[in-house]
Amino acid sequence: MTAASHVAAAAAPALERYEAVIGVEVHCQLRTASKMFCSCSTDYDRAPPNTHTCPVCLGLPGALPTINRRAVEHVLATGLAIDASIPAATRWDRKNYFYPDLPKGYQISQYDLPLASMGRLAFDTSDRPASVRITRAHLEEDTAKLIHGADPAGRPISLVDFNRSGTPLMEIVTEPDIRTGEQARRYAEELQLLLRAIGASDADMERGQLRVEANVSLRPPGTEAFGTRVEIKNMNSFRSVERAIASEIERQAELLDAGEKVVQETRGWDEDRGTTYRMRVKESSDDYRYFPEPDLPPLVVEPSWLEAIRAALPELPAARRARYRAALGLSAYDAAVLVADPDASALFESVLGADRELEAKAVATWVTGEYLGLRNRAASDAGPVAVEPADLAHLVRAVARGSLSRANAREVLVLHVATGESAAALIAAKGFRQISDADALAAVVGEVLAASPAAVADYRAGKLQAVGFLVGQVMKATRGQANAAIVQAAIRARLDGGGEG
Ligand SMILES: [Zn+2]
Repeated sequence: MTAASHVAAAAAPALERYEAVIGVEVHCQLRTASKMFCSCSTDYDRAPPNTHTCPVCLGLPGALPTINRRAVEHVLATGLAIDASIPAATRWDRKNYFYPDLPKGYQISQYDLPLASMGRLAFDTSDRPASVRITRAHLEEDTAKLIHGADPAGRPISLVDFNRSGTPLMEIVTEPDIRTGEQARRYAEELQLLLRAIGASDADMERGQLRVEANVSLRPPGTEAFGTRVEIKNMNSFRSVERAIASEIERQAELLDAGEKVVQETRGWDEDRGTTYRMRVKESSDDYRYFPEPDLPPLVVEPSWLEAIRAALPELPAARRARYRAALGLSAYDAAVLVADPDASALFESVLGADRELEAKAVATWVTGEYLGLRNRAASDAGPVAVEPADLAHLVRAVARGSLSRANAREVLVLHVATGESAAALIAAKGFRQISDADALAAVVGEVLAASPAAVADYRAGKLQAVGFLVGQVMKATRGQANAAIVQAAIRARLDGGGEG
């Protein structure tokens, strides 16, 4: 290949020349009050280091573990939610390795009998729906945390905080079914939604409750054999999952284009530089010398226990999106935005529940637009943005009937959130009544056109967006009470009809 043709090939998107084969591994901290094998509290986020410890999670000799039932239930619920197989009985295994954050010298985990296996998760992508097979979900304990810093003299030191040691952790591994960075991001987002919906985890990536790793390799399209895979770590947001994988695909494609070999290694994602970097080269697979944990009995999953967990499962995100679309007629976009936000979908359902006559589409528009807008603009320390469902129902109904303009309804909603006053009281106090009377509006439109010669000239010169300014002036003159659609039609009719203005 000449230098010129190499440049041309490298400039083309890598996924036109190669197929990417991607598997994702997620570690998620389960939502439990106490740790996996002891009664230490898991509420250590703001606690001083090494204050949530006991002989069990410090790995002191002779200390014996006891199983956290709630943690097991979270994994079983996850397994049911992803349509996985659940074994009638399983056991615990020791995964042996030496590291300063692992005081026992082994981690209690599950090896060949995970609590859930052969599941599946479906999600949407920008071009089509996708589905990923999930190899397994198993339960294990988290490690302690190493903090690397410097002592007062500036010498590098490493400290260990055992508060996290022994926290229940679920590992969820996919088959290599993923083909793009976007699919990997969407998979992780859907998994987060699912874990939150069933209450298994808060799954906050920024707080390390959801950690995503990916294995990436390339192969020529249409071939079966896997290429050399590279493991990517340190992706601390959904956006970085997508970017890191896309960047790694390009890096490997350039190597293969140049006739070089991809090295089997672990690479970290550098968010600022937008590239992956080498962390360590793996020459052989790790040998953890797994063996059954002698300090814990086998775990029997009674059918009645499993059925109770299944019965307690809430409506899952995918089912809820499907219901919003099929039964309520929402667009795929509105359904996705509502279901992605538990507060928004709760408000949406409550408003519909408060008035069965309301059009679901109109309610969805108010919740995804105005409510989420208010919440996103609210200061994070100002407390929740509280909207009474009955009051939002009142506003949506008034706008639908034409007795309140959309602009005034927005203003009332803002006041309702700020003061807690009812929508009806605020509308009465403000004296809001939508003006839809064409004759009454014609007079105001005439005044505004006379007072805005520049905008009128712009419109006549072909700048049609000048209409927006003129409508705004009429809304201002009527304190937002004019029916904007009627005003816009009236302005166009006057200006397009020629004559005055
Ligand atoms: Zn403990």
